[in-house]
Amino acid sequence: MSLDASLLSVLACPKCKGPLQVVTTPEGFACSQCQLLYKTDDDIPNFLIDEALPWKAKGTSNGSSSSH
Ligand SMILES: [Zn+2]
Repeated sequence: MSLDASLLSVLACPKCKGPLQVVTTPEGFACSQCQLLYKTDDDIPNFLIDEALPWKAKGTSNGSSSSH
């Protein structure tokens, strides 16, 4: 799947209307603000919020919450 930068600039998170970023594993579009991943099925992005997966941006795992 080869995505245009121009295509990506058109896409926006259906929840917050913020920018999306391309994710390859699993394939889809992620919103770092909502921490949701919109998966791509057969090259068709699924922008249903109900079917989005929880997603965390890499490199921002700061803080070990092991105080329980
Ligand atoms: Zn969002």
